[in-house]
Amino acid sequence: MDQSKSLVVIAESDHGELTLSSLECVEEGREIADRLGAKVQVVLCGNEVVTLAETLAAHGADAVTVVEHEALDQFSADGWLQALAPILLHTHPLLLLAPDSGQVRAWLPRLSVRWRLPLVGCCIRVGIIGDGYPEIIRNTYGGACQERLIWPYATLVGAMLIPGVRGVGAPRRGRSAEIAVLRPELDPASFRDRTLRTLPADPRTVSLNEAERIVSGGFGAGGPDGMALVQQLAEQVGAALGGTRVAADRGWLAVDRFIGSTGQIVAPKLYMAFGVSGAGQHLSGITDSEIVIAVNNDRTAPILKRADLGVVGDLHQILPILLAKLRVLAAANPAARHDEPTAPAALDPDQDTAAHPVLEKTA
Ligand SMILES: Cc1cc2nc3c(=O)[nH]c(=O)nc-3n(C[C@H](O)[C@H](O)[C@H](O)COP(=O)(O)OP(=O)(O)OC[C@H]3O[C@@H](n4cnc5c(N)ncnc54)[C@H](O)[C@@H]3O)c2cc1C
Repeated sequence: MDQSKSLVVIAESDHGELTLSSLECVEEGREIADRLGAKVQVVLCGNEVVTLAETLAAHGADAVTVVEHEALDQFSADGWLQALAPILLHTHPLLLLAPDSGQVRAWLPRLSVRWRLPLVGCCIRVGIIGDGYPEIIRNTYGGACQERLIWPYATLVGAMLIPGVRGVGAPRRGRSAEIAVLRPELDPASFRDRTLRTLPADPRTVSLNEAERIVSGGFGAGGPDGMALVQQLAEQVGAALGGTRVAADRGWLAVDRFIGSTGQIVAPKLYMAFGVSGAGQHLSGITDSEIVIAVNNDRTAPILKRADLGVVGDLHQILPILLAKLRVLAAANPAARHDEPTAPAALDPDQDTAAHPVLEKTA
């Protein structure tokens, strides 16, 4: 490994854990560094976050610089700038990688203006080609097009990777990294912004690639009325609303809410698809979903092969029953309404057999 060549990755933590998008950046950096024979240097900022360095090593970091201070307990764009700018100044990386997150968007562009560093958002793939020319593939026009950018000079570029775009691989236990802990002198009184409290994400507006639960509607929803039923379910289970490109093209869904190779790449814990056939372009956007439940009236629909629970039936019959049952459950236990995904329990095959669809557990 050529120790003089390095890539710098900015990592973030949230409630004492590394964000998945940080680990994605580390793994993306590892892949590039392996091709170049370079090292991956990760910079992590916060308070009492040094214990996270091992996880960064397990995902591909060669060196971890932990920047700690009590004033960095809660995010502040001014604080992050004060803490990180002097440290980054002394790194001379081939590339700077960071998650395309709200926090990074709050401070890194300011550094980029200060240093005249080209900074690119919405990146889906990053690399170095030829003799060190940065190459970036990024989404444009809300994901409708992809753009390939190449810098003709081997210049430092900052790339912000869309969360969820590559997924996170298994950690390599036993992999180690050089760990350095720095405690900068900071003046919290000079921070012009502070985090007072963190509000829980609103599933209706949360970015799809950060959503833990997604309920999707496709062409099988049949129109805005069917999509409204899908949306009601999303609200009932505290999920974000998504769908297929066909649904978005028909105007039943906002364009920035369709999922797939030309739309959003998602990685929720629970993905529920109603009237979605499961075309390759759609499935490639849900690869990293943990549990997939699909409702489709065609038992040969490809989505049923991807589903952990496949329900063969008409969504216009199933959704009203499901909604009614969820409302009863929510009324009985209002506090638990959004705590656990309740959809599978509500689809109890032993009840209301006449109205119920056939439940199929798929491989
Ligand atoms: C270059 C290119 C890029 C593309 N990118 C994307 C992309 O990023 N994302 C994307 O989603 N698509 C994309 N597409 C489109 C993709 O190929 C499919 O056409 C699309 O995903 C299908 O959407 P759908 O499942 O809603 O509709 P359909 O394929 O028409 O499927 C509807 C499904 O609903 C079922 N159904 C019908 N009525 C009911 C009912 N009453 N109850 C239950 N089920 C019912 C049907 O059996 C069927 O399986 C792209 C296409 C191209 C050419």
